[in-house]
Amino acid sequence: MVTHMKEARRMPGAEWLKNHPRWLERAYLLSKRAITKAYPVMKRIHPRFANWLMVRSEKVLKGWVFNCQMCGQCILHSTGMTCPMNCPKNLRNGPCGGVRPNGHCEVIPEMPCVWVQAWERSQKMLIFADDIKVIQPPVNRTLQDESAWVTMIEGRDVQTPKGWG
Ligand code: SF4
Repeated sequence: MVTHMKEARRMPGAEWLKNHPRWLERAYLLSKRAITKAYPVMKRIHPRFANWLMVRSEKVLKGWVFNCQMCGQCILHSTGMTCPMNCPKNLRNGPCGGVRPNGHCEVIPEMPCVWVQAWERSQKMLIFADDIKVIQPPVNRTLQDESAWVTMIEGRDVQTPKGWG
C-alpha cells in the first residue's frame, strides 16, 4: 500500500495525464487497434519474444502512467483511466463505504480515494464516461502478471475461471 503512494509520487506528469482522460481514451483506442493487429503477427514469428515484449512494455508504460499492478485484466477505460488495483482493498466495483469526508481513503488517510478519482475522471471522458456504471466481476488472480493486452486479444480476460458462479 505504501509502495503505491511512493510510486505515484515518483511519476511526474502521470497525474496530469490521468486528470485529462480524454487524451488517454484516444490513446487506448489507437493502442487497441495497433496491438490487436500487431500481436498475432509477432506471436506467429516468435511467441516467447512477443509475450515478453507485451509484458515488459505494459509494466514500464502502464506502470509509469497508471501505477499498473499487472492484474492481467485491464478495466482502465471503465474506471476513468484510474487503476482500481491501487485501491488498498483491490475493489473492482467501488467505492467502499469508508471514504472519508475529504474524499480520501479509509485505509490510507493521506491518499485520495481511488474510486472518487475514478468517478471524477470518468465524467470527463467522451467515449467511456458511462462504462463506470458497468458491474465488474471479481478480479481473476490467475491472470496476475500476464499482459492484459494479450489476455484481451485471446479472450481470457472475460472468461470465468472454473468453479466461479
Ligand atoms: S492491467 Fe490491471 S493493474 Fe494494470 S492498469 Fe489495468 S486494471 Fe490496473
